[in-house]
Order: sequence, then structure tokens, then C-alpha cells
Amino acid sequence: MTALTITAVEVFVVKAPLDTPFAFSQGWVHQRAATLVRISTESGIQGWGEAFAQGLEPPEIAAAALSHALVPRLLGQDALSPGVLWQSMYNQTRDHGRKGSVMSAISAVDIALWDICGKHLGVPISTLLGGAHRQSVQPYATGFYRLVGQGESQRLAEESVAHKEAGFTAMKVKLGFGVRDDIAVMESIAAALNDPAVELMVDTNHAYGRRDAIRLGHALAGHDLRWYEEPVVPEDVEGYAQLRKTLNVPIAGGENEHSGYGFNTLFRADALDIAQPDLGSCGGFTAAKDILGMAQANGVMVNPHVWGTAIAQAASLQFIASIPIAHHSLFAAEPILEYDVSSHPFRRELIAEPWQMHDGRVAIPSRPGLGIEINMETIEQYQTQTQRHVLS
Ligand code: CA
Repeated sequence: MTALTITAVEVFVVKAPLDTPFAFSQGWVHQRAATLVRISTESGIQGWGEAFAQGLEPPEIAAAALSHALVPRLLGQDALSPGVLWQSMYNQTRDHGRKGSVMSAISAVDIALWDICGKHLGVPISTLLGGAHRQSVQPYATGFYRLVGQGESQRLAEESVAHKEAGFTAMKVKLGFGVRDDIAVMESIAAALNDPAVELMVDTNHAYGRRDAIRLGHALAGHDLRWYEEPVVPEDVEGYAQLRKTLNVPIAGGENEHSGYGFNTLFRADALDIAQPDLGSCGGFTAAKDILGMAQANGVMVNPHVWGTAIAQAASLQFIASIPIAHHSLFAAEPILEYDVSSHPFRRELIAEPWQMHDGRVAIPSRPGLGIEINMETIEQYQTQTQRHVLS
């Protein structure tokens, strides 16, 4: 046994019902949830990770994958070898994993291992990834969820003004509630903002087939969108490529794709202008750095997706620090931070020093590892399932 031998893995399922359920194009979200992982080593250094739970994803699936498939391959192993352990976990689960909750479970372990590596070496994870290209990042507001469904353009316009008054200069609008309703929402928001300095993006969460996805893209051509996200289902790689050829707006996607293998399929098909791996489901830092390298070589920007807890946000911030400019110029586009403004108790309450926006930017932590300190009281308050696996 060495100082960094893995001696325990704990899995916490946390859930919080929402006072007011909200909808995105795929359904109603009634709770926020996550599968959190704490890995302990002989030295006493501990790392935290998160398996992202989508709005409709039961967090117990990733928890089961962790306990039954992954943890037996981790206890007694060297935590300083995240790449070796990633391959071990991936090979073990290839025939029943590769995507979805199993990859989210691998992601949680991987994030925790990189957290341990950073803490052991006394450097932030961005240093391990090659260094920080930036010390802060511009956040964009992700919101505009629905309380009724259709016909909410006036309320959503008021929400856009509130985001602007809160200091956001970029915001992403949830669409996918019918092409006509979507167009009305965007017209209402543009009229209320009446400010070309505010950048807008749209996200339909793959609500449409190719024909309506193209129809919507043409109808929104006047909004000078920064990107059009998940226009069609993630399986329709050719559809993505067709939209890129047909529309002028940059096409974004990838939050429902996984690992370098999955993203390679998208890059080979010229499916994306902007790749959006989620650290909590793409396979953690080990997969994200592979995806970043391939994206860079293919002329694709990387802008990570994040909708999870403060742990996933911390992972996203470290990764964003490490992303080089995709298309270099003096005034090149920088990656921006997805900043979900919907209610989520596992953000501000989960870490000792919650993120703050100062002068329109969020600072990237420079402390070792993920650079965060977890409030265990918050986990104890919301945990519905806890599994402790200890090296015997
Ligand atoms: Ca999205």
C-alpha cells in the first residue's frame, strides 16, 4: 500500500423536490438530484466527484453502476493513475455501458481522482491539464424554463430583462415547445431586451425532426444567435451535419454524447461547430481532454455543458481554464460558463464558498484539485441513499 492507495469509496444519492416543477421540451422536472462520490486514500487526501443526473434521470442508476461494477476495480488501486483506472472501468463496462448513466458513474470517479491528484501535488486541476489559459470566465444564463408550457412569451421576456439586470450579457433560451411558440418567444425576448450587446443562444433539447429544426433555424436567422443547441436527437448525426450545411447559425451539441469514442463519431461527420461535453457524464477529465484534443484538430470549439451541482460546476471551471482558443485571433471567442439559474439546493449550499459573478465574470478557483470545500451537512440533509465501500 502507498500513500495514495484508494481505501474507501462512498456514494451519496442526493435529491431535493422542487417547490415549483418546471418543463423543458422533454418533460417536467420535479426534483434536482445527483450521485456524488467521495474517494479516500491512505494518506487522508479525499477527492469529490459527481455523476450528472439529467432532469429526468434517476440518480440511483449511476449509484448502482458505481457500487456493483466500478468500486470493486478501485479499492486498493493507486489514485494517482486516473488514466489507467479510466481504461479499467471503461473496459469492464464496455458491453453494457459506453453511454448514459454508466458513463456518468465513470465520470464521477474520474473527477474525484483528478481532485485527489491536484490536492496531492498542491495544484489546481487546470495545471495538470497543461495550465490555465484564463483565470475567469464569462457566465451565460441558462433559464427560460416553462411553468405552463406554451404561451409564456411575455413572462419569458420579463425573465430576460431580469438576467440582463443581474449582469448577464449572454443567455440561452429553452425552446422546443412548437415552432410557432418558439418564434413568438424569441420575438418577445428580443423586443424586451432591445440590446444588440446581449448575446442569445437557443436550445430545443432535440424536440424536432430535421424539417422543423431547419424551419426554426431559418425563422431565427435575424437574431444573430451565438449557437443553436441540440437541434435534433443525438442519434441523428447526419441530421446535425445537414443542419450545419443548411443554416448559417453555429450548431452545438454533445451533452448527450459520451467519451472520445462518441465524440469522434460527431467530428468525423462534421456534425458540430461547438462541442459540449459535460464533465459529469462524458467520462470526466480523462475523456474531456481527449475530446478537446480531437475538437481542436477538427476546428471545433469546445464549450462544456454543466447543469449539475457545485461539484460539476467546479469541474467545468477547471476544464474551461484549460481550453485553448479554437480559432486564434486578437478578439477570438472564448469559452463561456453555463450558469443555470433554476432552483438547485446543491449549488450555493453544497460548497463553503459559492460562485459569485463580479463585473460579469466568475473567477476560476486556483486552490488545489477542484478548489472547493464540501458542506457535509447539505449532503446529510438531502441524501436518500449512502453506500460505503471500504478496503478490507
Ligand atoms: Ca442543453
